[in-house]
Amino acid sequence: MVAIAYRNASCIYSGADTLAVDSLDLDIDDGEFVVLVGPSGSGKSTALRMLAGLEAIDEGSIEIGGKDVTDVPSKDRDIAMVFQNYALYPNKTVAENMGFALKMRGIPPDERRRKVRKVAALLDLTEYLDRKPAKLSGGQRQRVAMGRAIVREPQVFCMDEPLSNLDAKLRVQTRTQIAALQRRLGTTTVYVTHDQVEAMTMGDRVAVLRGGKLQQFASPAELYDRPVNTFVAGFIGSPAMNLITAPIVAEGVRIGSSVLELERDQIALLHEEKLVTVTVGVRPEQFELTEAGIEATVELIESLGSESFIHTHTEPDIRLVARCPGRAPVALAETVRLRKRPESIVHLFHPDSGHRLGA
Ligand code: ADP
Ligand code: MG
Repeated sequence: MVAIAYRNASCIYSGADTLAVDSLDLDIDDGEFVVLVGPSGSGKSTALRMLAGLEAIDEGSIEIGGKDVTDVPSKDRDIAMVFQNYALYPNKTVAENMGFALKMRGIPPDERRRKVRKVAALLDLTEYLDRKPAKLSGGQRQRVAMGRAIVREPQVFCMDEPLSNLDAKLRVQTRTQIAALQRRLGTTTVYVTHDQVEAMTMGDRVAVLRGGKLQQFASPAELYDRPVNTFVAGFIGSPAMNLITAPIVAEGVRIGSSVLELERDQIALLHEEKLVTVTVGVRPEQFELTEAGIEATVELIESLGSESFIHTHTEPDIRLVARCPGRAPVALAETVRLRKRPESIVHLFHPDSGHRLGA
């Protein structure tokens, strides 16, 4: 078990004009489950591969267990990787696949068998040990890939979108299993995904990347409650936070013919910043449908059974999404009024930089 540190670590691919990972600074605790999340091309896989020693660290350094591994070859870093593409040996059985790394290490057959059996039990694979991968379901293959990593008892697990090949239901099941398993083993884990729900449900802490740059590194709750900029605000949460840039008036901001009220200290802050417009952020569940509030027309209703998302637009053309429990109490093309729930706080961001303003 070890802590991991990225120290201003950068990677640039030859021929590229921007850094794939740009001065990444992360302190990962011993035993922690950290998720790297961001859109496609944001540098997640590169950052993970730098840790695993599969990509060069062109600037800065990476430490594992307090030791600088920047120049240590991959095989000496004691890391096990799980990829999206499991790449199991098709001609070997599950047991042989899982035990292969141990065999290469020269571990005697008896001990190998014991270790493989133990991990197979952990992953519900005992009855499949003699099967070939072709005779397994996608979920079982995924577990074999996990098992192959766990058997090695590495210091660190690196996982790059390991659930991408599974169907939606299995993905949800497996993500719970992986998170529980990691907690049980206590092995420091860095997990890459583009799926913010996976990030929020699995990670002790989540690092949000964009264009190779770290945006925010925090607990899921902190990311949700206090996003540092409009990018994180819009990326975390589904449906996305409503982000509206609007003129500042005495009690709040003007949206169409209505005013979205802000707290007194928020208005004071906007005056201090000498702003005339501000970007406000309101999560869909912070809106309620009432008699008073922002007038809007319903253009789409998504009914999920337990909750509904009501997509609306206002005059002038601003799109607002509200979430309500159960069935939507409104119909398509109906005019509704959206009001911020009294107990909820509106997020404020600088209209140009997108940085969070205030607490
Ligand atoms: P992610 O995993 O977040 O989708 P990557 O780390 O794969 O992102 O890629 C980050 C950036 O580096 C992207 O702009 C991508 O096009 C570029 N990149 C990735 N791999 C290579 C490579 N082998 N050669 C050149 N550029 C690459
Ligand atoms: Mg990737």
